[in-house]
Amino acid sequence: MALKNFPALASDEANVVPTRPFGKTGIEVPILGFGTSLHVSFSQLLLRQAVKWGVTYWDTANTYMGGNSEKAIGKYFGKYPQDRKKIFLVTKTHAATAESRTRDLNLSLERMKTDYIDLFFIHSIWGADELDNQTRTWAEKARREGKIRFIGFSTHSNMEACLLEGAKLGWIDGIMMTYNYRLMHTDDMRRAVDACVKAGIGLTAMKTQGGGQVRSDSHTELDLAGRFLQKGFSDAQAKLKAVWQNRNIASICSEMPNMTILMANVAAALDKTQLSAGDTQLLQQYAHETRSGYCAGCTDICESAVAADVPIGDVMRHLMYARSYDNRERARHYLKKIPEKQCQQMLNLDYSSAEKKCPQKMAIGKLIQEALKELS
Ligand code: SF4
Repeated sequence: MALKNFPALASDEANVVPTRPFGKTGIEVPILGFGTSLHVSFSQLLLRQAVKWGVTYWDTANTYMGGNSEKAIGKYFGKYPQDRKKIFLVTKTHAATAESRTRDLNLSLERMKTDYIDLFFIHSIWGADELDNQTRTWAEKARREGKIRFIGFSTHSNMEACLLEGAKLGWIDGIMMTYNYRLMHTDDMRRAVDACVKAGIGLTAMKTQGGGQVRSDSHTELDLAGRFLQKGFSDAQAKLKAVWQNRNIASICSEMPNMTILMANVAAALDKTQLSAGDTQLLQQYAHETRSGYCAGCTDICESAVAADVPIGDVMRHLMYARSYDNRERARHYLKKIPEKQCQQMLNLDYSSAEKKCPQKMAIGKLIQEALKELS
């Protein structure tokens, strides 16, 4: 695929990614953020180059790569301490109690050789009831102590409801949510984004590729590839552009494990070509044709339609890592976290009601069987 406007390896103004305001924080962030699942040694050149291109929003979590991602960032700051103030640093925890959150935060600070985190996320919430007063009190204390500047959450599940509820709370500064060309045009998602914008919450989109490369079993696939090729960018770059066209999205968090992907994404951020109405329509058509292969994270629908408390959305996401992102290692790593008893339960459940209700028309039962066999 031809990629135009590859940035030179030097840093000059023309090769620095543009910025947008992040909610009401007063901070400008680059429209391209670095999703860091990093190896400690291999990542240093990538991080250095990211800074040169202005990709200075770094997102990690205490669990990524078993802690090595935070250590890689710490190694970088150890070598280039002057760069710390250039970086909008985000990390996250799954911890549910104040004590365990503090322990995780302190460990993140130590690993990353920094005194503060710019934005601290409660990781991967399913509903706003996870954002109780205890969380707010904990965040205020961490802020008073100077350990965090801003607080928020990330979500892959029931994103629209999480955003709407988060906007009502009054103490959320930033949210990172699954958001892409498949999800961004629904009325529910538009309403949720609008509510956050009104509340002054900074928004970061993740999983912007909407399930990976375009598939060859869609009738629209050839039209899409040809159309974007003529304009000089790949379908992956087009999907980033689709999200950036909503100016309410401050940044895209993209995992960039190698220089090729970093360069391609920076080139897309620098390129001023907009998607046309026809491009957007074709992407939406493609999304519709391939919807049964993409889980939209609306877990309230399917998980309430089966006879046991099981994480259908998680399994679908892990399957996406394996099949669409070709990252079986990560898929297996996350799948192992589901208790064996629950996996057995999932193999024996009747999913027919869930399948009837699934807006994406996914073959949930078949996919669960395949995921648990392929990835265990
Ligand atoms: S399987 Fe279907 S209903 Fe369940 S989260 Fe995915 S898209 Fe939504």
